[in-house]
Amino acid sequence: MTEIERSLRNKTLVVITTVNEPYVMLVNESDPSLTGNARFEGFCIDLVNAIAELRHFRVRFVECGGYGGIDPVTGEASGMVKELMEQKADMAVTDLTITYEREQVVDFTMPWMNLGIGILYTLPQKEPPQLFSFLAPLSLEVWLYMAAAYLGVSVLLFVVARFSPYEWDVPQPCRDQQDVLENQFSLANSLWFTIGSLMQQGSEIAPKALSTRMIAGLWWFFTLIMISSYTANLAAFLTVERMVSPIESAEDLSKQTEIKYGALVSGSTKNFFRDSKIAAYQRMWAFMKSARPSVFINKSSEGVERVKRSNGLYAYLMESPQLEYVLERNCELQQVGGLLDTKSYGIALPPGSPYTSSISNAILILQENGTLHALKTKWWKERKGGGMCKRRAKKSPSSASELGLDQVGGVFVVLLAGMAAACAVAIAEFAWRARRLDPTTQVSLLGEMARELQFMLRSRSSTKPARHRRPHIILTSTDLTVPSPSTS
Ligand code: ASP
Repeated sequence: MTEIERSLRNKTLVVITTVNEPYVMLVNESDPSLTGNARFEGFCIDLVNAIAELRHFRVRFVECGGYGGIDPVTGEASGMVKELMEQKADMAVTDLTITYEREQVVDFTMPWMNLGIGILYTLPQKEPPQLFSFLAPLSLEVWLYMAAAYLGVSVLLFVVARFSPYEWDVPQPCRDQQDVLENQFSLANSLWFTIGSLMQQGSEIAPKALSTRMIAGLWWFFTLIMISSYTANLAAFLTVERMVSPIESAEDLSKQTEIKYGALVSGSTKNFFRDSKIAAYQRMWAFMKSARPSVFINKSSEGVERVKRSNGLYAYLMESPQLEYVLERNCELQQVGGLLDTKSYGIALPPGSPYTSSISNAILILQENGTLHALKTKWWKERKGGGMCKRRAKKSPSSASELGLDQVGGVFVVLLAGMAAACAVAIAEFAWRARRLDPTTQVSLLGEMARELQFMLRSRSSTKPARHRRPHIILTSTDLTVPSPSTS
């Protein structure tokens, strides 16, 4: 045991602290029976008690407002840093970051935890499923290219079939007169053939010439790949709920002004942006400084609350261990991007304090024997609702869920619209045919349709007497004379 350690024995050291979850917390603010050290609990309280046990001294915790530092303009000290500089306490313990500025005026022990600045933000909103989400697996560009390919291949098939002599056939081989040839690939049939294979249904037409078969084969290959890719992607698009987050990093934050962001009013996080030489962080500092109402926060817990209440309009810049602690307990929040820097927490002592190295050594012992790790698990994961979000995530059903009308409703809309269009075309066809068969008819279209409907209801047969085009002839009296047998 060294001289210093001997001098520490049974001594009572004044430890100033700032309340901040989970490092230092008040056990019960409204309970007057709690006095002295019993009022406090948390990671740092356990840490100091463990060091005191190792070095055999006693402690008296005193609450002190703010972390503090040195004002770069006035040079004035503030918060716990000021208290130590004025030798009003023996130690300052909380999540106090070791910074160059503070190191100039107070002493720091070995670090007891490493950290970086992170961004706390609300979880991305789930995008409501869209009616036509079945179109999402392929981009608009690909859909347009597919439509162009369909039309292009159909027209090419039509043209090539005209050129190829093997696509010209005798329509009725049994007939004697064989001077008329027919080509099955009319433009309409070509379009029907290609859409049939695109929809994986085929058609009754089959190419016969090598050239048209090549076109058909390659079109089938194209549709095979396109339909497989579409099907593979469709499941993911319909079942996975898509999340939209407006910001992904600090860079994103710096480029916009709609989402406000801020840090603790008197802390090293704020100073990090103030002193940074990186353009994005300088932009962020300028924005934070000029924002009205102020984006700076007096207590970390206020920052967390502001993020929760802001509906995605406020992001809080905070240190990673506490961010981790907050995320364990607030499942609606998330960390955005990575850490902006790396630094550590240490215990601060008055400048020239004789106890610095002894306490540093004690921290090393606690780190090596696993005490620091155990304390972190205790205060982060076990106490005060730790692990809540993980437990909730486990309980929720697996990500595969049934599809609702929200996801596949668009297909029904397309089906209904298609059926309506088909009915309209059927009426047009009916009207067109009726006029062609009998242009002089006095019967209205509705009357004709009613007659057809009656026939449909009366007879289930799929045959009916043929109606031929009525010749448009005006009969004269000579037409009505009966020819004599001698003239015939
Ligand atoms: N730990 C910080 C400090 O020591 C507090 C913060 O700025 O987040 O100032």
